[in-house]
Amino acid sequence: AHLDRIAEVDGRVHAFLHVDDAGAVEAARAVDARRAAGEKLGPLAGVPIAIKDVIATKGIPTTAASKILEGWRPPYDATVMTRIREAGMVMLGKTNMDEFAMGSSTEYSAYGPTYNPWDLTRIPGGSGGGSAAAVAGYEAPLAIGTDTGGSIRQPGAVTGTVGAKPTYGGTSRYGLIAFSSSLDTPGPVARTVLDTALLHEVIAGHDPRDSTSIPLPVPDVVAAARQGATGDLTGVRVGLVKEFSGEGAEPGVMAVYRDTVEALTKLGAEVVEVSCPHFQYALPAYYLIAPSECSSNLARFDAVRFGLRVGDDGRNSLEDVMSLTREAGFGDEVKRRIIIGTYALSSGYYDAYYGQAQKVRTLITRDFTSAFEQVDVLVSPTTPFTAFELGARTADPYQMYLADLYTIPTNLYGGPAISVPAGLSDGLPVGLQIMAPTMADDRMYRIAAAVE
Ligand code: GLN
Repeated sequence: AHLDRIAEVDGRVHAFLHVDDAGAVEAARAVDARRAAGEKLGPLAGVPIAIKDVIATKGIPTTAASKILEGWRPPYDATVMTRIREAGMVMLGKTNMDEFAMGSSTEYSAYGPTYNPWDLTRIPGGSGGGSAAAVAGYEAPLAIGTDTGGSIRQPGAVTGTVGAKPTYGGTSRYGLIAFSSSLDTPGPVARTVLDTALLHEVIAGHDPRDSTSIPLPVPDVVAAARQGATGDLTGVRVGLVKEFSGEGAEPGVMAVYRDTVEALTKLGAEVVEVSCPHFQYALPAYYLIAPSECSSNLARFDAVRFGLRVGDDGRNSLEDVMSLTREAGFGDEVKRRIIIGTYALSSGYYDAYYGQAQKVRTLITRDFTSAFEQVDVLVSPTTPFTAFELGARTADPYQMYLADLYTIPTNLYGGPAISVPAGLSDGLPVGLQIMAPTMADDRMYRIAAAVE
């Protein structure tokens, strides 16, 4: 049914870069066979799923929406993919995204944009716009995204879906094509909080193949989602981030936000305002740290190891082939990040830029730590504005970067955060973001399920 739905609507939505019809049917039959053989499978066995194209999938094209990886078929599965297969889930295909996960609208895909199923003239968010649109458009019930600065939560907010960024290190980065290694976090996308938690449970947990993976048990996110669904938040302390309470946000978004906070109070939560004075520096710090790490990570695309190879005619030097390949293979936004990052890391500038940004990161972490001494969770709108028209923010990179104003602090800190649909503004979805302390992922699911 999902393959039929994809065939019917994806010509207009363009959520997928690759649909694996044959593989999906084969995987579904394999689940039946495992069941028939008496294997006891989990609650998501047989359930279809769409995978963001930045996740390595064995034998299946994986491009990170870049020309430089066109035609690459990974020889191995990412850990999240291995766990999805072990759970008996059925992969439908690979979803569109901003190239190498750099962007907030999916317009920076080298293969053309994805369109928001709510309004096909508008963006589905990014970088994981394909995963969010697939779920919002009923092409897949579940999807995997990755969140470095907001790429699961912001697409969730603007497509009316649920998107969770787990605690950094709570889900494995093994087999995730690296953008910014100290921030990248794979996570679940779904239409309900409980579905999101069920998928979270499948993909999370320690992985010895990822050196930053946390060797602790996964918080019981499914039980928390069920508890939250009872709608009782008595005794829960919710902090409103003072710095994210209006400035720069659309009035319609703020109106939904205020109504949702009001609803939390009615469910019994105690709501207080909390100041996080360094959050205002998160965006500039992120746009030094993420490009710095990306400039190093993307050095591996050297015309030798993967995909594209340009100018290899026997006359050009190896260096010429590398630079011709990178010139042709990377899009403008990726090049911009590599240049910013290379500059910020260069000797003489390192202390002034990268070093300063790391200090700001520490201050933001302290803001979170002291906030969580006062409250159980922090909330804010997920994003300052609803889905914008295609082309509206591509002329000025800063306008695009603002989409993640409220999501980035969490990545710098490393804690979990979720976006849950909170209402509509002018007919377009608005998300509430719930942020929790590291390894307290269950807490955000409880609140999210109560809000839903
Ligand atoms: N929009 C942010 C960026 O462009 C976040 C991307 C992400 O989370 N992958 O870097």
